[in-house]
Amino acid sequence: MGGDTAWDRLTARLIEMPGPTAGLEAGLARGVYGEAGAVSGRYMCRACHGDLILRPITPGSRQQPHFRHHSNSESGARDCRAPAGDRQRIEREDQAVVVLRDLLVRAWPGVGASLEIPRSTRDSEAAGTRPALVIRGMDGQLVVIERPQELPHTEAINARVRAVRSHYGTAAVHVWFLAKDPEQFVPGAPLEVKPHGRAKTVHATVLPTTRQRAITAAGSSVYWLDGDQVLVPYGVHDFTHAPRPGENWEFADWRAAKQWHRDWRISHPLPDSDATRWGLVTVTLNQLTATKTTFDLRPAHDTMQRLAHVERARWNRRRADARELHAQRHTPPDAPGPSLADEPAAFPTAPPPGPPALEEPAPQEPFAQGTRDAAPDQPPQPPPPAPASPPRPTAPPLPRSAPGHRTPEPPQGIWRTVRRFLARNRTPRSPSR
Ligand SMILES: [Zn+2]
Repeated sequence: MGGDTAWDRLTARLIEMPGPTAGLEAGLARGVYGEAGAVSGRYMCRACHGDLILRPITPGSRQQPHFRHHSNSESGARDCRAPAGDRQRIEREDQAVVVLRDLLVRAWPGVGASLEIPRSTRDSEAAGTRPALVIRGMDGQLVVIERPQELPHTEAINARVRAVRSHYGTAAVHVWFLAKDPEQFVPGAPLEVKPHGRAKTVHATVLPTTRQRAITAAGSSVYWLDGDQVLVPYGVHDFTHAPRPGENWEFADWRAAKQWHRDWRISHPLPDSDATRWGLVTVTLNQLTATKTTFDLRPAHDTMQRLAHVERARWNRRRADARELHAQRHTPPDAPGPSLADEPAAFPTAPPPGPPALEEPAPQEPFAQGTRDAAPDQPPQPPPPAPASPPRPTAPPLPRSAPGHRTPEPPQGIWRTVRRFLARNRTPRSPSR
């Protein structure tokens, strides 16, 4: 090993070479640092847990100060005893954290950043684990950032979350920055959204893995880093509107292509554990520091709040459409049509939790305007965990867009206007569209 990094038992930090040497101790520091009766050197190799010596360099030398394994045995070998594979893995782990540290320090000038290993119980245990990037903000805020090459299993995730809380306190923000690559990012269907007061847009979604869910279940956060953009997740809970008496969901227009009966609700700021998928709000690293705190997620959380703001209006709007269609077709409210039960049950139909749904009519809040289009396109979905026995909708089957095709834009024109005019004169309708 080139002696690039060493674990400093005294400060619980990772030291990089070359780097600032002030505060370090040259030579073999054996005996200086001891814990639990064991006396060892201050600096330790993360791979083999052997003592390292900081080699002082004579003034004028062109060499850099560096670490060297302590030759403590009969062989006098000064090489690392760890298998090459372990050494390479640890180097990759450390390097990934260092690269993220450099990126954040450029984006957030002035913050203090160090590579630390949250100590849990024993030093040697801690030394074998990946260092975290610890950011200390000027306002006293402390952020512990993980940058794993590969997510550990659930138990290790929980142990790490506990170690961070016990070492840094519960006020510390603990986040896991994952890579937007096939290993750590399984894309879901795009979600068309219209946050209150904002333009319609499309959010990417991700299908969280068990380990990613474990992080949020433990109260930490998962973000994806994509260049200088940070993808912040919220929960998307897909469900199907169960037809009620007086509703007809058998749309023959663009709403069929949009699968009007398929809707969703949000959970935020952290996704609930039973979310079907996670929607992603994009913020830039610079936005995270816009208000001079180290880690400000207000831009992302504001967007989530705006999404929550429009969701009940969207549900009510769609139900109003179904009532309107029913009235148009004069179907008796109890006439059963062909059952949707023949379709694959892709979405739970349980009524979404929250305040009781408003029955009539759609809310008149200004942001209700235009929310009719704030619906997800629904290319084929990976099957979410279905409830044990979801109530089956009883509306006729809907025409569906071919899998993988873009859903068409709503048709515009005179016929739509005429249909709406007729519909409005048959049923009491909200004039808000
Ligand atoms: Zn070693």
